[in-house]
Amino acid sequence: MPSLPVGPFLAVLFDFDGTLTHPDALDFPALRSAIGCAPGTLILEYIDSLPTEEERIARRNILADFEMAAARASVPNDGAEEMIRMLTSRGIGIGIITRNTRSSIMESLKNFRSVSEKDFRVIVTRETEGRPKPHPDGVLSAARQLGVAPRNMLVVGDFVFDIAAGKAAGAPTVLITNGRTAPQARIPGTLPGTASTEPAADFTIRSLGELAGILGL
Ligand SMILES: [Mg+2]
Repeated sequence: MPSLPVGPFLAVLFDFDGTLTHPDALDFPALRSAIGCAPGTLILEYIDSLPTEEERIARRNILADFEMAAARASVPNDGAEEMIRMLTSRGIGIGIITRNTRSSIMESLKNFRSVSEKDFRVIVTRETEGRPKPHPDGVLSAARQLGVAPRNMLVVGDFVFDIAAGKAAGAPTVLITNGRTAPQARIPGTLPGTASTEPAADFTIRSLGELAGILGL
């Protein structure tokens, strides 16, 4: 049995889309088709790789339109608001790390009833300095801003990049499956900055309410 990080868990860093919100708000196949990005190719990295600034700007505008539509349509994930309130009431620092934009997150948060931007001490987006997930930069930066060591900060997400970024930063990781039998945790090829395609999370949960058990709340 692999050894688990022991905690104590003093902070929680959440992925946003599909973790704090219900999954599938963004239609990735339609988005890929609209920007000409093949399945299995990373969208942000694909756009960055285009040869001209004109092409990159055009694709970024399409991406922004898709993301904003998805943000407007998004709804809080099961138990998300309750878990955020529980964590803040216990003084556990919480943050968000996303490959999305800050404006998308702000738009999505309008659909939360009892949670707002103020509940998050740090929000790392793709506009934030440093490389996006699966690289560890944002996780390390968030831990610094939350005033905890990475080993004391749970990183929670629904995608392989969340787990890879957390592990690369030395943080304990939680994969949320949202009840899927095949977690959305597989992409072709080796992850940048890691040696594996499917890093195993330290914990796997079906929904956010199960975090209470991991945190000993
Ligand atoms: Mg996600």
